[in-house]
Amino acid sequence: MSVEDIIQTHGYNEDIANYLRKVYPLYVEEFKNEVIVYNALMKTPIVLCDNVYECLKEHGHLDDREDNEMVPLETLKVSSGVYDCSVKLSYNELSKEYTIVNEDRIVAINAYSLKLDSKKSTTSHELGHLIKALFNEHIIKGDTLIERSGLITRIYQLSHENGKVKKTLWSETGVGLEEGLNTVLEERIMSRLLEKGFESLGYQTMKGLALKVMNAYNIPDLWEIFKEAELYHDNSRIDSVLGNVFYELIEFADKLYPLNVELLNMNTSSERQDEVKKEMIELINAEYAPISEKLKSIGQGSIEM
Ligand SMILES: [Zn+2]
Repeated sequence: MSVEDIIQTHGYNEDIANYLRKVYPLYVEEFKNEVIVYNALMKTPIVLCDNVYECLKEHGHLDDREDNEMVPLETLKVSSGVYDCSVKLSYNELSKEYTIVNEDRIVAINAYSLKLDSKKSTTSHELGHLIKALFNEHIIKGDTLIERSGLITRIYQLSHENGKVKKTLWSETGVGLEEGLNTVLEERIMSRLLEKGFESLGYQTMKGLALKVMNAYNIPDLWEIFKEAELYHDNSRIDSVLGNVFYELIEFADKLYPLNVELLNMNTSSERQDEVKKEMIELINAEYAPISEKLKSIGQGSIEM
């Protein structure tokens, strides 16, 4: 189990190889599980390309994708990088059961090389998504498919016709908080890689929210507790520490997230940017206060223990 196996398996050039040699031990240290980090990178090619959308298309990742997820196809066309897993399912008429046939993963980065810090940063962000997806990424329960990537949970309704399985998105939650936490991770990895502080160009609002939750309320070990849930797709420790306020936070972050996306979009006019900022402040004032109060009381409780 070494990073050299990964480099050799994918035939990476020195550019990607040098980057991986440096970040591999950082992810292992962060997640305290080399098997997951190793398998994630072993099973997934990192592809540098001109256009992320075209790259996914070329690798057959857009064939049966529906355009109703929080990352719409239009966003992919201007995206700096993406982690994607295309899952193939089959239906057995005799046992009346769906099964997973194959999971095909890819990290596509809009770059010619990883020489620039911004490209390293995008790659580090997407590797975070990949590592936090690998363990039990897809679970079938009856005729639903549950997909997890970190705190993101997507539930699909499955149906079949003429031997072909169709999945229809039923719900998608956790994207906002996960993007915040994943941007925190990206900056932690980059700061160690560059041996100096680093600020991502990505989801700063969501990152700010994640940092506030982790730092402002004196609730111990939240970063570790979140990471455990993100990696093993098991929220039980979060549930026991935060209870229902965690789900209120998830819901709030999912409302804030599309505004953060709009703010990041280069096509958003400066007038609209001002409007978006105003909407963000209104949303925070209206909905974050009660969550903040509950987090505060949990934090106070933990100090007294
Ligand atoms: Zn992301």
